[in-house]
Amino acid sequence: MFEAPASPYLVPFDGTFKVSEASTVPVTNGQRHLGEFRKWARSNLKQSQRVLAAGDRHSVLLVFQAMDAAGKDSTIRAVMQGVDPSGCQVSEFKRPSDLEIDHDFLWRTSCRLPERGRIGIFNRSQYEEVLVVRVHPKILASQRLPGELNLETIWDDRLRSIREQEEHLARNGTVIIKFWLNVSKEQQKKRFLARLDDPDRNWKFEPQDVIERRYWDAYMRAYEEALKVTSKPWAPWYAIPADDKGYMRARVAEIIIESLQGIGLRYPEPSADDRARFAESRAELDSQTD
Ligand code: ATP
Ligand code: MG
Repeated sequence: MFEAPASPYLVPFDGTFKVSEASTVPVTNGQRHLGEFRKWARSNLKQSQRVLAAGDRHSVLLVFQAMDAAGKDSTIRAVMQGVDPSGCQVSEFKRPSDLEIDHDFLWRTSCRLPERGRIGIFNRSQYEEVLVVRVHPKILASQRLPGELNLETIWDDRLRSIREQEEHLARNGTVIIKFWLNVSKEQQKKRFLARLDDPDRNWKFEPQDVIERRYWDAYMRAYEEALKVTSKPWAPWYAIPADDKGYMRARVAEIIIESLQGIGLRYPEPSADDRARFAESRAELDSQTD
């Protein structure tokens, strides 16, 4: 298993995480978030992904969760720029379809897990089942769950299912890194207003997002509960300050790069048999006159 890179934003593994202590603004100086860093990050990620594909042993799962307007989409875009598109896949998880509701709550994300050698990005994820659904438990009524609903136990049960699945995936070669892009309530308001003010950004404005903002505190409680019990050495959460987008993207890229370096990726060494076959092929090529 890989070692989660150290960071002031790493959510501790001992269940002591508090949203109130997670900063929405940078706590380290941001010198490494300028142009040069971006270039370095881009070429480094591109190279790591090539070796990941060549090795064909590990897969990488990046989970992004955040309140609206925190910058999930633009972070995913920025961080993955330059990476071979055929080696990665982005999956967005919105309100579940009828088919998805016909299965257990881990089914739809399981179907989208990355194959060995690939990077899979979840824009929202199975965590919505303990976030939006926890904030609005009436959603459970549409999930056709068997038996009596027990609101005292369902969230812990779901969190246990998520945690156990992640441990299973990690044991089998998936490197899981999870990011909570932690935007402040004030900054979110500014971004919503900017979407209303700027005609080119009107299309991003969603009236429901403003209604959802009323439930901010309930969301924070749900995030705290979820991150507390699911940040583990094999599937760490990072609570990245999201009020400064450039800084946020740089920290996300850095953590991904360091994680990939931590699993010691290298091009596969040809075996003695491979080498013998290469010699045969070389001799065959030499014997061909054209
Ligand atoms: P953007 O607004 O940038 O397009 P988004 O991820 O916010 O991206 P939307 O279509 O606005 O996409 O919202 C998707 C909605 O679906 C979110 O409010 C999210 O909480 C909700 N959602 C995701 N998963 C579930 C789920 N399992 N059950 C119920 N709602 C869910
Ligand atoms: Mg939205």
